[in-house]
Parts: sequence; C-alpha cells; structure tokens
Amino acid sequence: MIRFPIPPMSPIASRNVAVIGAGAAGLIAAHELRQEGHKVVVFERETQVGGTWLYMPDTESDPIGIDPARNVVHSSLYASLRTNLPREVMGYRVFPFVAKKGADRDQRRFPCHSEVLEYLKDFARDFGIYELVRFGIEVNKVELTEEGRWNVKSRRIEGKDQEKLDEVYDAVVVCNGHYTEPRLAEIPGIESWPGRQIHSHNYRHPERFQDQVVVLIGSANSAADISRELSGVAKEVHISSRSMEDGNEGKLAGYDNIWLHPMIKRVHGDGSVAFLDGKVVSADIILHCTGYKYHFPFLETNGIVTVDDNRVGPLYKHIFPPALAPRLSFVGLPWKVVPFPLFELQSKWIAGLLSGRLLLPCPKEMMAEVEDFYASLEAYGLPKRYTHNLADYQFEYDDWLASKCGCPPIEEWRKQMYADTSKRKRSHPETYRDQWQDEHLRLQAEDDFLKYLA
Ligand code: FAD
Repeated sequence: MIRFPIPPMSPIASRNVAVIGAGAAGLIAAHELRQEGHKVVVFERETQVGGTWLYMPDTESDPIGIDPARNVVHSSLYASLRTNLPREVMGYRVFPFVAKKGADRDQRRFPCHSEVLEYLKDFARDFGIYELVRFGIEVNKVELTEEGRWNVKSRRIEGKDQEKLDEVYDAVVVCNGHYTEPRLAEIPGIESWPGRQIHSHNYRHPERFQDQVVVLIGSANSAADISRELSGVAKEVHISSRSMEDGNEGKLAGYDNIWLHPMIKRVHGDGSVAFLDGKVVSADIILHCTGYKYHFPFLETNGIVTVDDNRVGPLYKHIFPPALAPRLSFVGLPWKVVPFPLFELQSKWIAGLLSGRLLLPCPKEMMAEVEDFYASLEAYGLPKRYTHNLADYQFEYDDWLASKCGCPPIEEWRKQMYADTSKRKRSHPETYRDQWQDEHLRLQAEDDFLKYLA
C-alpha cells in the first residue's frame, strides 16, 4: 500500500536515476543528470542510440497499428525524409549540429535522416553517454515502492539469455518517445469500405502506391512531404484536412494530380469517399497522416498519471505529476516545438530539482497551476489533445525553464530562424529546404557555435 504524500527526498544529494529510452531526449537527459552528479542508467530497447532517427525499413504487420498483437516498429521515418528544421536550429545548444566532413555525412542545412542519427551518435560518443546505456533491454514495469522510490523491471528482449532485472531507483525520467502508436481519423462507414488503409507510421517508399487513387488525411509535415512524393507515382492524390480553408479546395497549384479537400464525411461499400464539400472520389487507399498517441505501457502510478484524449496529466510544466515530483518526470512531451533544445532545458531542470539545488512549488500549488492551465485551454475551446501543443509559446516555455536553471534564454537567431523557416515551409513547401534568405542568421549561429566548438 503506497502512502501519500510520498516521503520527501533528502536535501542536496546524488540520486540513482533510471532514464527510459536513448533517443534525443534520453541522451541529453543522461548527460544533464550526470553533470549534476547523479548516477544514471539508460534503458534502451534497441541495440543503438537514436530512437526515431534509427530508420527501420521494416513496417508493422498491421498497417494501421490497431492490432495489439502486431510487431511494433519504433521509428516512423520514411526513406526520403529530410529534416524540417535547419540543422542550426535543431541541434542541442551544448553540441551544435554542424556539418561534418566524410563520405557518409550529409552536409546540407536540412539533411537526410541518417545525418541526424550520426549527429546523435557523435553526441553520445563525445559526451561519454554510451557507457550509461543498457542496450537491448526493455523496461516493462515501473512501479512506486512504499518508500516513494521506483521499482523498475526490465528484460533483455533478444537472444537466448532471457535476463530479467528488478531494481529500485530514486527517480525515473521517461523518454520513450511519442511517434510510434498511430492515431487514426474517425471515418463514418469505414467498416464496410473495401479499400486499403495505412498510417504514415508504416509508410517508407511511394512504390506500392503506383497508379493508385490515394486519399491522404492530414496537413502536418509528413502529410506535406508524403503527398508530394506520392504524386510522382500515384494516379491521384486527394488531401483531406481539418485545416482546409473554404475556397482553397481544388487542385494544388503546381500539380496535375493532387487535390485539396475538407474532411471526409463518409466512405461507402462501393469504395467511394465523400468529403464535407459534397465532392466524391473512388479511392484505393486511405493514408492516415493523423499523428500519434502517447503511450506508457510500463508505467504503473496507481492512476495518478493518465492519458486522456492524448493529454498526459496532470503534469506541471508538461514534466512532473505534482504528487510524484520530482521523482517521476517526462522529457519530450511537447509538440510543434524545436525538440532537442527543449529536451535539453527540461533535462537540466529535472537534474537540478532531483539534486535539491533547485526547488519546486509544493504539490498543491503545482496542481492549482495545472488546473488553471487546463481551464484556460477549455476557455479557448481547445480539446484535451492540444494540451502539449506548444506552437504559440514554445520559446516562452523554453526561456522560463532556462531562467529556472540559471542559463541564457534561447538565442534570438534561433527564434528568428525558426519563424523564417516556418514561413518558407508554408509558402514554398517544395523548395524551403534548399533555398533560403536567412544567411545573416546562419552566420550569427556559426559565430555563436564557436564557443562550443573550441
Ligand atoms: P524517440 O526518438 O522516439 O526515442 C525513444 C527511445 O525510447 C527509443 O529509442 C525507444 O527504443 C526507447 N524505448 C521506448 N520504450 C522503451 C522501453 N519500454 N524500454 C526501453 N526503451 C524504450 N524533430 C526535429 O527536430 N526535426 C525534424 O526534422 C523532425 N522530423 C520528424 C519526422 C518524423 C516523421 C517524426 C516522427 C518525428 C520528427 N521529429 C523531428 C521529432 C522527433 O521525434 C524528435 O526530434 C526526437 O527525435 C524525439 O526524441 P525522443 O527521445 O523523445 O523519442
């Protein structure tokens, strides 16, 4: 039986911390925790670091990811993916993502996915993170102990050796990523629609869409990239999106075979797909580019942390459940952000709070703030699933964390470069990765990086 509130932690100390995941979030969390003097173990299911950036050619047995017995593939990268942020913006602050020489390196400003993987490997090597990672080990249970610590159960997932571990840690930092469990659009009539469905999680190459009529649902980065890639092979591509503005429907400028539509109204047993504006097409495939669900199958918190309509809550500053802070934390939940620097600041704050060098408000105050935040979302008419969407205030959030940690705010050039890129991405989706006008910002970034590269 767990007693609440959980016992307080002793002041100023080094803790034993388990980090779950060695993607971009787990790697920087491990670094910041160790910098603060904690003893860190990183659990990683795969045999390499990188998480999402570890491209996996294989796809899942269920292309829409609803069969719980399917083989789960972690990464959602497609073969042609290039970053949607310039490398200067994207990298950790402490380890700028600069172009490296070498036959296997991509020196472009918006490089291909394998270059991001190489960057993360470089970081893990240069910062001595490899020695903290247990590869091929999956965490399958994280439970509170009576003393308010965490019982972490893990197992080796491959090979004859079915090693199982049962250990106790002072704190757990969850960095398991949130781009693996597909979210699907709800489509009336889908049970009797005869075509194929696939989620972008299982999209790798366009070839299997040859000569097909595809309805692609979504409007985010993957939808923009994949629809254009498909137009080269598919017969027709129909993009259906919630954000389609009235009057913009019709052919996409510059393409003969891409059409824009509002949401799907209904699909029918004869293969037709009817949109809200009354247009109807006969389609072979529906491709869901509709995002992902937060999923923590290993986490047992006696109902303190829940996922409700994709809100992970209650969480103070998207990181700490007030009743379990700072012993349980999440790095990387926010979306529509620049992820790596945000992970870095979240991790720095967590590390300082765990050692007792920094302080949190009391659980009651944190909870009151979380409730105010939820009420403000509701007042704006935003559904729970937008809780971790930081699009309108990501840099404010970063700078708040930076001030708590006593480090400088996000660089002005980075904020400006992000804003410029977002604008260019909207106005020139085909060319924004190779043509730009923010050379002055790039030079400022290079100048700034000198202090880390010395
Ligand atoms: P992940 O990279 O998913 O890492 C999580 C790790 O946890 C994985 O290694 C996984 O194996 C491990 N794990 C999970 N569960 C367990 C367990 N139970 N036990 C042990 N290990 C476990 N960001 C950008 O900055 N720029 C981009 O251009 C960009 N493009 C993207 C394109 C796509 C298609 C997607 C899906 C994402 C993109 N992102 C981009 C966002 C990207 O996800 C983040 O940049 C970042 O890589 C996420 O890191 P993470 O560590 O939070 O999660």
